[in-house]
Amino acid sequence: MIRVAVIGAGAGGLCALRHLCAKPATFDPVCFEQSGRVGGTWVYTDETGTDQYGMPIFSSMYQELLTNLPKESMAFPGFPFDKKLPSFIKSQDVLEYLEDYADHYDVIKKIKFYQYVQKVRPIDQEKVTVKWEVTYNDVRDTSQVSTEIFDGVIVCNGHYFVPLIPQIQGMDIFKGQIIHSHNYREPSPFEHQRVVCLGASSSGVDIAILLSKVANKVYLSHNKGTLKSQFPDNVELKAGIKCLKENSVVFQGGEEEEEIDSLILCTGYRFVFPFLSEDCKLDITDERVTPLYKHMIHTQFPSLSFIGICKVICPFPFFHMQVQLALAVLDGSVELPSKEDMDKDTEADFRKRLEQGLPWRHAHHMKEKQWDYNDELAAIVKSDPIPKSVSDLYNHVAVDRSSNILNYKKKNYVLTGPETFEEVQ
Ligand code: FAD
Repeated sequence: MIRVAVIGAGAGGLCALRHLCAKPATFDPVCFEQSGRVGGTWVYTDETGTDQYGMPIFSSMYQELLTNLPKESMAFPGFPFDKKLPSFIKSQDVLEYLEDYADHYDVIKKIKFYQYVQKVRPIDQEKVTVKWEVTYNDVRDTSQVSTEIFDGVIVCNGHYFVPLIPQIQGMDIFKGQIIHSHNYREPSPFEHQRVVCLGASSSGVDIAILLSKVANKVYLSHNKGTLKSQFPDNVELKAGIKCLKENSVVFQGGEEEEEIDSLILCTGYRFVFPFLSEDCKLDITDERVTPLYKHMIHTQFPSLSFIGICKVICPFPFFHMQVQLALAVLDGSVELPSKEDMDKDTEADFRKRLEQGLPWRHAHHMKEKQWDYNDELAAIVKSDPIPKSVSDLYNHVAVDRSSNILNYKKKNYVLTGPETFEEVQ
């Protein structure tokens, strides 16, 4: 039996458990989850800061959030969302879906709730295959510390939790409030305010539109070039921020907007793996995590893998493919190239990105690359690829979103076959 530790019971951890539990004669999984329930970031709470046990609030969800992907693309392969739901759904619907997924595949029994993983350390490094020492504590009583030994570790700790805060000149003198989108919950505190949202990725755009209903004025500040879509009348697009003054924000190019009440940093999140010991030899430099083959398998310790590091993806189908590769490496059904060849492959992928003009910090951004990647993983593990209908619908919505930000979530879709989808009323 191969003992596998899964860290986190969000979508990635549940997917890992679903596949591990499908091979009960091969794998003996234990999942450690610091909270009391499954679902990870989809567990919305009004709270910010810390919870009743002093743990930082994990979820980055806000009220009124509707998914930015249609449920028909979002679903794990073989486990569709409830047909009665519209295509773009609330966080509560996603949470219920994940709970149903966990029940359907009977994985709850493998989860140790309220257990925070403090340390993961490779041991027996001189042997052919290392073992992993996992130390965890009960968040309700931190003196309860335990250690267990595993043959493999699958890290599914989520990557939308620790805010990436840019250093902006004048932050210390600005008199308005500054919050990160991680701590944004609902628009009412911003009523009648003049607000700047910095960053025009999914959350920045969404929060700017939600705030426009109550705020007097919203400036959406970003460095993304021209945004094609129409925005509400009181949302004005601005260049990135140059600096802050006591009451105003100066944008690149010198334009200044005065009497700004709030600045919301929709500037993304950092990768953090606080539990990995130095012996794990994982490096994070400007949001590039190395040494990871195919963005997930540690090339020095292939029994240590990471699910969902990639960004700009269709997460659940993507996790479904990655998990299968992680398991195939653990049970030996797939033989990896040599460490040297894996490192070369990783480096070639990264260099190609830089040559294409992508910034360093986009080392794990997939976007249109994700579908070939999924197909490649499917071929390696000899599993069904993601159906073309799923990727075509995802791509269709991405185009619609870029030109029709105010209305794209009002549409509904059905998958009509493995290669086809239709918009429906
Ligand atoms: P998470 O859901 O973050 O789960 C990680 C789990 O690990 C948590 O339960 C956490 O408690 C646990 N954990 C972390 N550290 C430890 C530790 N040391 N010990 C024990 N447990 C630990 N995706 C979509 O498909 N569609 C969308 O529309 C969409 N919208 C999004 C909107 C927002 C605002 C955000 C933040 C994300 C959105 N996503 C969306 C992406 C979403 O993150 C993924 O869908 C997916 O839920 C990520 O799952 P995960 O398992 O990787 O991480």
